[in-house]
Amino acid sequence: MNKKAADVTIRHIWEARKRIAGIINKTPLIKSSILSERLGRPVYLKLETVHEIGAFKVRGAANKILSLTQEEQRRGVTTFSTGNHGMAVAYVAKQLGIDAVICISNRVPKVKVDSLKRLGAQIEIYGDSQDDAGERCLQLEKEKGLTVIPPFDDPFVIAGQGTIGLEILEELPNIQDIIIPLSGGGLLSGVGLALKSNDQNIRVTGVSMNHSAVMYESLKAGKPVKLDEKNTLADSLLGGIGLNNQYTFKMVQEYMDEILLISEEEIAYSMAFMLEQHRMVIEGAAAAGVAAVLEGKITGGDGDLAIVISGNNVSLSTLIEIAKNYSHPLKHL
Ligand SMILES: *Cc1c(COP(=O)(O)O)cnc(C)c1O
Repeated sequence: MNKKAADVTIRHIWEARKRIAGIINKTPLIKSSILSERLGRPVYLKLETVHEIGAFKVRGAANKILSLTQEEQRRGVTTFSTGNHGMAVAYVAKQLGIDAVICISNRVPKVKVDSLKRLGAQIEIYGDSQDDAGERCLQLEKEKGLTVIPPFDDPFVIAGQGTIGLEILEELPNIQDIIIPLSGGGLLSGVGLALKSNDQNIRVTGVSMNHSAVMYESLKAGKPVKLDEKNTLADSLLGGIGLNNQYTFKMVQEYMDEILLISEEEIAYSMAFMLEQHRMVIEGAAAAGVAAVLEGKITGGDGDLAIVISGNNVSLSTLIEIAKNYSHPLKHL
């Protein structure tokens, strides 16, 4: 590993693990007999769905917020994500008794606003777009001294997500392959760093949806690019990587061996498969990882393989739709 991406190191991940231990529980790793049979090697699922907010993002948010000074914590934190990151910031802040302001545009649906409110966050409605909400966040930073908690491109956030890698290594010291859903790359940067620090030969595969795969296009272009967003079942994987990306673009370049693009149909079948065969609800982003195995996209290699099941936040209506239209997924295999 060269020194370029050394801003975040394995030491930061161990520090993160200690820092977040009081508020983040270790998650289960279970063997999937049916996926193991299908792939002809042991397949494990790392269940990040069991966090109270249903996604791994509490790890990064906790590590970042706990690393702030007492004075910064007293002033409070802010962010402009309405998805899993916003929920994570709201949840962690509440656990610690810190004020959190989530900035959203007036287009954000009421269900999302309500679940953020339930987590105890203050909501600031501002403008018509995600960009407007982001601007409001920066204003709050300037005017009231709130700290903006970034969703992925931050050393503490990356190190927090990396604690997943340490937990996997404890249970699977011989792991050969890891499959990680990929958007801004905080998750892959952290987990990739943890695993490759243990053994460079562990193969790290990122999975994105083939609709608006910003990291994929950025890697191809050799620099961060912007894309229009298309609707996808893997909505947690939407969003840019930031044209001024500081950490994750370099770290994904360094720690990822391969990237796979997954179609909407493959994501839908994988969600139905998990529901029917594992009796487990997972969201589209996590299903992209399952699809990599289910659809025979992982070839070569042997030994233990793990998939990061990154979240379970999917609406009941989407789930019912998928269960209706993509049931009997084994027929499709
Ligand atoms: C945020 C998120 C991802 C992607 O994480 P990045 O750090 O942005 O690459 C994957 N799955 C779920 C459920 C998420 O919420």
